[in-house]
Amino acid sequence: MTSLIISLLILVCTLAAMASEENSGITADLGMKNLMEGNARFVSGNSIHPDQSVADRRAELVTSQHPFAVIVTCSDSRVPPEIVFDQGLGDIFVVRTAGEVMDNVTLGTIEYAVDHLNVQLVLVLGHDGCGAVEAAVAGGENPGHIGSLVEAIKPAVDVAKGMKGDLLNNSIDVNTQNIVSKLKSSEPILSLAVKQGNLKILGARYRLDSGVVKVME
Ligand SMILES: [Zn+2]
Repeated sequence: MTSLIISLLILVCTLAAMASEENSGITADLGMKNLMEGNARFVSGNSIHPDQSVADRRAELVTSQHPFAVIVTCSDSRVPPEIVFDQGLGDIFVVRTAGEVMDNVTLGTIEYAVDHLNVQLVLVLGHDGCGAVEAAVAGGENPGHIGSLVEAIKPAVDVAKGMKGDLLNNSIDVNTQNIVSKLKSSEPILSLAVKQGNLKILGARYRLDSGVVKVME
């Protein structure tokens, strides 16, 4: 009888350990704190380049990954999320397209992180001087598939045209807000996770000159 109880206890402990390994164990709020602390290190020139050791971190990640945040940002070479947030291997799950434009493939990519990897935070990061948004502001014809990108950003420019201030700057922020809204209402996975309180989706802006990431209200 005693051995049966011990066996059951071992089973329960094993299952609990397995469950705790299913995600990073890092909430959305703690994830934001991690990102902002990493950005502060980057801004001040004190990056610590965490989680990049060959012996420990790389080996640890061979069989699984438990990133604590999804970063949706532009493909712009000046905005590499691992660097601006001072993160390492296995820390953040990154989706990058010009102007952060979303389609079914990128939505599916984010859904994978939320549904399979149980990530609780999605941060959409726009940036100063975004060429994709600039192209949408400029209007006109664009060659090849670039037109699809520009078309996707145009609604943000139309809204920004009715706002005071710089059209490009406003368009960049409205585009970020539009993507946040699109993700929050994306059915069935993301909208449900938000509704159930298991997912936070926020927008932010990256400053090219200072390196500062500012979260939007
Ligand atoms: Zn850009």
